Amino acid sequence: MQISRKVKYETELDAQFPAWLTTIPGGERARECMQCGTCSSICPISVYMDITPRRLMAMADAGFKDEVLHSFTIWLCASCYACTVNCPKDIKITDVMYGLKRRAIEEKILPSRRFAIPILARSFVNMVKKNGRTTESRLVMMLAFKIGLFHLLKMAPLGWSLLRSGRLSFKKERVQNRQQIKAMLKAAEASS
Ligand code: SF4
Ligand code: SF4
Repeated sequence: MQISRKVKYETELDAQFPAWLTTIPGGERARECMQCGTCSSICPISVYMDITPRRLMAMADAGFKDEVLHSFTIWLCASCYACTVNCPKDIKITDVMYGLKRRAIEEKILPSRRFAIPILARSFVNMVKKNGRTTESRLVMMLAFKIGLFHLLKMAPLGWSLLRSGRLSFKKERVQNRQQIKAMLKAAEASS
């Protein structure tokens, strides 16, 4: 996968970004990366990423904010923590990935308009806020309408086998006391 954006001039770099990186909870040591490559070699997803974790750390440290926040990498990270537990510099790379995702959301930056992962995450959260639970079949339909019906057709065989095995239901799932869920989420938001 190619990096979607490229900095051409040094003046396009964000001089504040490296310092901001260390304010991410878990990112305090982010600037101590020694580029050993352990994170990239151990990451099970790195082959699908446009910027490997090692390279992402170097780019973030050099102020390539635009490239880092537009990358697919921060969204593809599966939060397996393999990089974090093996980093010789004790950098919490997984937490840095979360921080970068939060920043991308705040700045309304996505690698592409129809990229499924953030759309799915948003739909998931909205459904939990409303019903306290998710109804997977509705979530899939919602996602398909947003990223394109063609994708729904591609997933049809999988959907059919899940339906047949009873692992996908169209019954709307929701908790009885939705006010409690709303109060919990409101308290969590207030304390964050
Ligand atoms: S494992 Fe740690 S020190 Fe090594 S490249 Fe990755 S972040 Fe840097
Ligand atoms: S936490 Fe993310 S970046 Fe780290 S190894 Fe797992 S998938 Fe890769």
